[in-house]
Amino acid sequence: MTDPLIALRGVHKHYGDYHALRGIDLDIRTGEFFSLLGPSGCGKTTLLRTIAGFEEVSEGTVMLGGQDMRGVPPNRRPTNMVFQSYAIFPHLTVAQNVGFGLRRRSDLNARARDTLVADALDMVGLDGFGARAATALSGGQRQRVALARALVLKPKVLLLDEPLSALDKKMREQMQVELMRLQRQVGITFILVTHDQEEALVMSDRIAVMFEGGLAQVDEAEALYRRPASRRVAEFIGTMNVLPATVAGDTVDVAGLGPVPLSEIGHAAEGGGTVAVGMRPESWTLLAPGDPAPPRATDGTVAEVVYYGDMTYYDVALPGAERPVRVSMRNLFGSDVLEIGAPARLGWSPGAMVLFR
Ligand code: ATP
Repeated sequence: MTDPLIALRGVHKHYGDYHALRGIDLDIRTGEFFSLLGPSGCGKTTLLRTIAGFEEVSEGTVMLGGQDMRGVPPNRRPTNMVFQSYAIFPHLTVAQNVGFGLRRRSDLNARARDTLVADALDMVGLDGFGARAATALSGGQRQRVALARALVLKPKVLLLDEPLSALDKKMREQMQVELMRLQRQVGITFILVTHDQEEALVMSDRIAVMFEGGLAQVDEAEALYRRPASRRVAEFIGTMNVLPATVAGDTVDVAGLGPVPLSEIGHAAEGGGTVAVGMRPESWTLLAPGDPAPPRATDGTVAEVVYYGDMTYYDVALPGAERPVRVSMRNLFGSDVLEIGAPARLGWSPGAMVLFR
């Protein structure tokens, strides 16, 4: 990567005895929508705050735009942060909230400021809301005000700490799409902290998966999903059926499915531990009676049915496998949904398998 906008090298953060960041090396480019994804407490927010300058690193360097940020306070960095809580001033109007960071800008007269505020409101879809009291807004609208307030300062990097977590599912999905559109429009780097893997997959150009203060994998969404670096990443992103397996020579014997040539397996992850094989729910085919037999098929029994309208998850028990495998099927109009206890014939292919060893 040539000249990354953000470059972290050997970043450690200690809080007393607690080692919150453990040697982070990371480059983020100009104009990227980048997400930090991981379970609660893995250090996502701490990493975001070290970029913003709210935390000093214990060890290592944070470079922004080619400059070492050691000792540079947040307001002197080319970053701006949108907090989960929105942090909106209730006694001010929407426009006053958005213009708050501009009030000390002596290079701008009142008219120039008003124009910048109006542009920012327009950008987030709050055209005409300027005179409204900031308290007379829905959660989604408050989040837009917080975004406009950050964008009006024209930062090089916008840092977003779980910005959508307070919204309901529908609103969150809508805002995800709007944030993507906004990021494309303004063209600046967005760094999003989220513990919601779906949100990260939907929105990001690249995602850093974090566990216990370290980076487990940094990749594009599809690569994380299809070619996880480890079993832990595979199980954190989406659903992954993990079947015990043994390797003998150039053959992998998979519990419930039988022997598979090692060379036919789609992707091999690193990382120690016992050998196992992973398969995503959508990589199986549920065969109807009379369907032509695929090269590889296994007979099982439906153990659980989880109906989602457009699709159904079937947990299918396979003889010789300890736990049922989860299989997803799109519900085509007019097709029957199988019931618990029904026989299920599953087609599968080694190319869709991930080997963990
Ligand atoms: P969440 O999604 O729950 O916010 P996170 O991944 O953002 O989690 P961080 O907030 O970065 O996690 O915290 C990482 C770890 O560092 C946590 O165990 C937390 O308790 C600890 N930590 C964070 N800030 C401090 C602090 N100021 N003093 C001591 N420990 C802290």
